[in-house]
Amino acid sequence: MKISLTFDIERDNPNFLDTYKGLTEGLPKILKLLDDFKIKGTFFCTGFIARINSNVIRSIERRGHEIACHGLDHERLSKLNYSECKKIISRNREILQNLCESKIYGFRAPFLDPPQFLPSLLENLDFSYDSSFKKRRENYESANSILEFPPSQFSVFFRFPFGYQFLRKRIFQMDSIVLYFHPWEAINMRKLLNNETTAVDLIKKGLFRPDRWIHTGRKFLTNLRSFISDSIIKKINFLPLRDLC
Ligand SMILES: [Zn+2]
Repeated sequence: MKISLTFDIERDNPNFLDTYKGLTEGLPKILKLLDDFKIKGTFFCTGFIARINSNVIRSIERRGHEIACHGLDHERLSKLNYSECKKIISRNREILQNLCESKIYGFRAPFLDPPQFLPSLLENLDFSYDSSFKKRRENYESANSILEFPPSQFSVFFRFPFGYQFLRKRIFQMDSIVLYFHPWEAINMRKLLNNETTAVDLIKKGLFRPDRWIHTGRKFLTNLRSFISDSIIKKINFLPLRDLC
């Protein structure tokens, strides 16, 4: 069995907050955890993050992880046309490629909300894979050379009560899975939301949604550590997505 751990590197809870605590405080904890187990993951990065803190991108790559693209400033690509998307994705890759020694192979649409033409656009831009469509769907424009790695919807269960036990059982029955996480999940989002937003904001912005904050921070890191450790005992391979191409 193969597991790919993927992380979207962007601001905290995009569209709701303008803070970067996940980047400054959460990401180092995630990188340390992966180092502890000598596991390599895939990090989908926005161009904006690379511009404000290029050292973050370099330090992820230096540890042997894969850097991939995730838009310029986390744009909702399904609302944009082909040439607008092309401009964003090309620039995103250019910014990241200038910082990275390894070739950039992959893309993931922000909000997992890709336009239907995304695979053919990625093919046109000479990418190797996409990880944006939640399930293998018939209704996107397929592109022969683009591999699709659908991200699993299970990831949020890492933070729900009893979710981890359910998750572990289901995942260990599969052949392969792509799990996706965010650096803000490794910090206490409840505390951050209380500091950064008013009660009215919380309702207006939909932040009462528990998946935005529940069991973020220590609980998330504990569950992730325990999951990796159980997987290693079962001799499961952890591979960055580029190694599946
Ligand atoms: Zn994202």
